[in-house]
Amino acid sequence: MTKGRYGIHGGQYMPETLMNELKFLEESYEKYKNDLEFNKELNDLLKNYVNRPSLLYYAENISKDVGGAKIYLKREDLNHTGAHKINNVVGQALLAKRMGKTRLIAETGAGQHGVATATVAALFGMECEVFMGKEDTDRQALNVYRMELLGAKVTAVETGTKTLKDAVNAVIREWVGRIDDTYYVLGSAVGPHPYPEIVKHFQAVISEEAKEQILQEEGKLPKAVVACVGGGSNAIGMFANFIEEDNVRLIGCEAAGLGIDTDKHAATITTGEVGIFHGMKSYFVQHKGGQIAPVYSISAGLDYPGIGPEHSYLHDSKRAEYYPVTDEEAVSTLEYLAKREGIICAIESAFAVSKALEIAKEYTPDDSIIVCLSGRGDKDVAAIAKYRGEDINE
Ligand SMILES: *Cc1c(COP(=O)(O)O)cnc(C)c1O
Repeated sequence: MTKGRYGIHGGQYMPETLMNELKFLEESYEKYKNDLEFNKELNDLLKNYVNRPSLLYYAENISKDVGGAKIYLKREDLNHTGAHKINNVVGQALLAKRMGKTRLIAETGAGQHGVATATVAALFGMECEVFMGKEDTDRQALNVYRMELLGAKVTAVETGTKTLKDAVNAVIREWVGRIDDTYYVLGSAVGPHPYPEIVKHFQAVISEEAKEQILQEEGKLPKAVVACVGGGSNAIGMFANFIEEDNVRLIGCEAAGLGIDTDKHAATITTGEVGIFHGMKSYFVQHKGGQIAPVYSISAGLDYPGIGPEHSYLHDSKRAEYYPVTDEEAVSTLEYLAKREGIICAIESAFAVSKALEIAKEYTPDDSIIVCLSGRGDKDVAAIAKYRGEDINE
């Protein structure tokens, strides 16, 4: 495949003014990805700051309830800042420093990627500005304050639907205007080449560890690995080291919101069409005329109208399977996992656990499956209460 292409997907559909900068980014990434010093610094940070390797936890109670394959949870929720996002941010911020940049900018939806970026910027003594839709700054006031505590500037975006896709548009505009000292830390496996490849590279640590851990525990590969898909970064990280293992199923879970037959969902692969947006060719939820459609999910992390180009290719080539999971299924699963395993996971992760419970039934306790538990659920407690009609004084 041509560089930056995944079948018909991927590419680099960006304003002319950014092409040189993307070339500089690609060259820098190629130069450092196998550089000894760079990787030593990265691995030190992953170990001593992020808290890696993350645990591979055998969820015995739920496995026994199901009576099928053993269900293992890859505990990305135990990383510093509470999700997988920091794996990628640490890597990109190190790259930014090598490129001589002093300022990080980022988009954020619920605030998870913004918090991770603000965190690493603080650690590295870099300036940081995070763009967030006005809707989201209102809904996620706590994360806005967190980012400010960490020394970042948070800019509310007032255009369009005032959500994540508008934040991405704003951050690209900002980047065009200030490429000299500014590095754009993209938060998912989306956007123009080389971002999807870079994000996969830094998130691949999830499956690198998980593969080693499961072989240690079970002496054989799992039947399936399962992850939720917003833009697709935790999923591509969970898939990366299993893609070449033909006998391991790769399963992605998309947000079906109130149902894929309503207009309140974000199920990109299930309902989307090929289009070009945010610098890449991929599947997008869109209206007949090609306009990007407004999407919805109870989970802010999955509330994105597109998906990374490699996932679109893995779908086209039938290597990976993508399934829609509804809000109700995810919330019930979050509650169930909390009660049975004592783990309150991020609502995003609950989409993956929900499907995993179904998949596990197809196998026996001789087999295993691994679910990426992408984050912890503290941030979601108020939303779950609200969903259940309870008022806990947000
Ligand atoms: C952001 C986020 C996601 C979705 O993003 P991906 O790039 O698809 O991984 C999933 N889970 C958590 C906890 C998140 O914060």
